[in-house]
Amino acid sequence: MTGVWKRVMVKLSGEALMGETTHGLHAETVERIAKDLALAASDGTEVAVVVGGGNFFRGIQGADKGIERARADSIGMLATVMNALALEQAIESQGQPARALSAVAMPSICQPYSRQAALNHLAKGRVVVLAGGVGHPFFTTDTGAALRAAELSCDLIMKATQVDGVYSADPKKDPHAKRYERITHDDAIAQNLAVMDTAAFALARENAIPIAVFELKKPESITTALKGQGRFTLVVPR
Ligand code: UDP
Repeated sequence: MTGVWKRVMVKLSGEALMGETTHGLHAETVERIAKDLALAASDGTEVAVVVGGGNFFRGIQGADKGIERARADSIGMLATVMNALALEQAIESQGQPARALSAVAMPSICQPYSRQAALNHLAKGRVVVLAGGVGHPFFTTDTGAALRAAELSCDLIMKATQVDGVYSADPKKDPHAKRYERITHDDAIAQNLAVMDTAAFALARENAIPIAVFELKKPESITTALKGQGRFTLVVPR
């Protein structure tokens, strides 16, 4: 797929950064992912990343413990900023320039997100790491990824998961789950397949953005998928 996808949006969950541990950041895992992102960018692909925060905090968990949902989501958004800063550092340590931009303004720590700034960094070959999701409570970073992919005219959303594609059921629970090599947005919705959360998926569908669903476990998973190699499901408009 190299050459086909000029600009991509990679969605990483916070959990992807914690490796086999139970929370927080796992240095070797962050380094492995950063290496992969740096390689993709140095190969000439414009790479934007939206990072989640579930390895530190999710709003819904806080709300369950009595924190107002909007306030708990603010804590969740702050968690994504921690991950973005760690990733920015790790990518730069690979010798590839990177910039963390936050949808929640905190200019003493990183640049506030603006479309122009992000496009400018991408044009200069910097990996853009987007924190804060959409910048408002009651959203997720999946939706942030789909929104920014649309805003930044990304050719592809790369949704990193724990399995190698989209299945008819959870393959970890159902041994008969069918794996799709390719499926349309419409069919995924009709079959109620959980590719991304509903708001995110609706945005991707409305803007006809393909989604590659792939497993992040192995080194160079991102660059391998970008070359059209390895196993992934491609969700396509038609
Ligand atoms: N969040 C939010 N608005 C957004 C994106 C995220 O309020 O636009 C909060 C929300 O509380 C969420 C947390 O940040 O639970 C972490 O994001 P997410 O759950 O998407 O992270 P992931 O599951 O990808 O690690």
